[in-house]
Amino acid sequence: MRAEFPDFRLGNVLATSFTGTLSERHGNAVERIPTPHRLVDWLAVNGLAVASCTTAQLDLARELRESIHVAATAAAVQDALPASALRVINDRSAQGRAAAVLTPEGERRWLLGSASPVEDALGVIAADAISVIAGERDGKLALCASPTCRAAFFDTSRSRTRKWCDMNTCGNRQKKARFHANRRAAPGSAD
Ligand SMILES: [Zn+2]
Repeated sequence: MRAEFPDFRLGNVLATSFTGTLSERHGNAVERIPTPHRLVDWLAVNGLAVASCTTAQLDLARELRESIHVAATAAAVQDALPASALRVINDRSAQGRAAAVLTPEGERRWLLGSASPVEDALGVIAADAISVIAGERDGKLALCASPTCRAAFFDTSRSRTRKWCDMNTCGNRQKKARFHANRRAAPGSAD
């Protein structure tokens, strides 16, 4: 039981699910991988199971996470990609030694090496970020409309008009806030 830790937000894009392990960056930030063990949990949920993780590896993971966040944010607003963020993403990608394998069911799995599986997993995440930021995938990077969040997310909606990184949290909060604002603005209304 590790109920004291905040839940993970699960998305279907690995790189932005990873940046979502820190949320509310512009409000009361919520760190969802506060310990090496929580990173191990997150990796397992995302098909990158490792046996253990050190504090130094957690630091590497967080450095990669914030670099992806910075680069994806720049890409979303069509700014130049910051060199320091690129260096971290490219280093992690270059140092990963994971191999993609195909299962009999036709699914892709990642085989991590035995020497440094956490670094291999980070390499997979970095490569995913590169493919998203490079615009190779069907979708568009955008920033969450919530002012306390501003997370970069990958919009795969047909109209490319998604506003929130996560419908269940940011989207829902915004809807509730609007509902209460409307009630205040029209106290006499019957709905
Ligand atoms: Zn958000």
